[in-house]
Amino acid sequence: MGNWHTKQNKKMCWWITEKCNEGCIYCFRVLDCVNNFSLEEHITILKRIISYGTEQITWSGGEALLVPHVVELMKYAKEHGIYNKLTTNGKLLTEEKIKEIKPYIDLVALSIDSFNDDTNQSIGRGKEHRSIVIDRIKHLIDSGILVDINTVVVRQNIKDLVDMAEFLKENPINGKWKLMTFFPIRESALRNKEKLEVDDNAFLKMVKKLKDDYPSINIVHMMNDQIQQQYPGVRANGDLLITKNFQDIVLGNMMTDNIPDNPFDLL
Ligand code: SF4
Repeated sequence: MGNWHTKQNKKMCWWITEKCNEGCIYCFRVLDCVNNFSLEEHITILKRIISYGTEQITWSGGEALLVPHVVELMKYAKEHGIYNKLTTNGKLLTEEKIKEIKPYIDLVALSIDSFNDDTNQSIGRGKEHRSIVIDRIKHLIDSGILVDINTVVVRQNIKDLVDMAEFLKENPINGKWKLMTFFPIRESALRNKEKLEVDDNAFLKMVKKLKDDYPSINIVHMMNDQIQQQYPGVRANGDLLITKNFQDIVLGNMMTDNIPDNPFDLL
C-alpha cells in the first residue's frame, strides 16, 4: 500500500517492555528482549522517536504500565506535542493510576476479547479479566478519557462477539470497538497459529453482521496487512523496526546505532 502516512498521522508503537501480567495464547511479544533501561535511557529513545516527526505514540508491550517510570515518559511526550495512546490489559489501571495518567494520556485502548469468563480463561487472560475491564471502562469514562476496546478475533472468541456487542450497546464506550484479525507473527502467536486462526471471510462476515446489527457502536476492523503497515515500532531493547510480509525488518538500535532512515518513509 506504499507510504500511506501523511504528516498528520505518523504513529509509532513503543513496545516498551516485554514483561506482562497476563499470558494470552496469541501474544506476539518477543520474550527475550532486554528491557532494563533507566528513565534517562528511555528519554534518549523517546527523543529519537520524536525526532522522526512522530505525532502519536502507542504505549504498549508487554504491559506498558509495568515500567515504573512510564508516566514520566508519557509526560515528556505530551510536553513535546505527542498524542499519547495507551494500550493495556487494564489490570494495573486502578483509580489512582487513572488519576496519575490523565493529564498525559489522550486515549486508552483496553484489550478484551470476550465477556465470557471461560473464554477469557482459555485465551490466557484469566477469569477475572471481564470484571476488571468493566470497572476500568467506568472509571476512565468518568475521568473524561477516551476509551477504545481492542478485540483480537480468534476461533476461541468469535462466538462471543454478539454478546460483546449487546453489552456495548447497553453500556456504551466513548471511543471505538476495534476488531482485529489474529496476527501470526513471532513467539506464542506463531506457535498457536493452527488452533487460533479464523479465515478472513468468516472474520469479515462477522464484522459486517455486527456493523449492520449494532449501528450505535463505533465498530472498526483491521486486517493483517493494515496491522503491519500502520506502525513502525520500537522494541523493549531499543530496536527500531517495520514489519512487511510478516517479517520484522530491524533498522537499527535506538541506543547504539546511528539510524539514517526515517521509518515513516519506508512503510
Ligand atoms: S497480548 Fe498483551 S496482555 Fe496478552 S500476554 Fe501479550 S502483552 Fe500481555
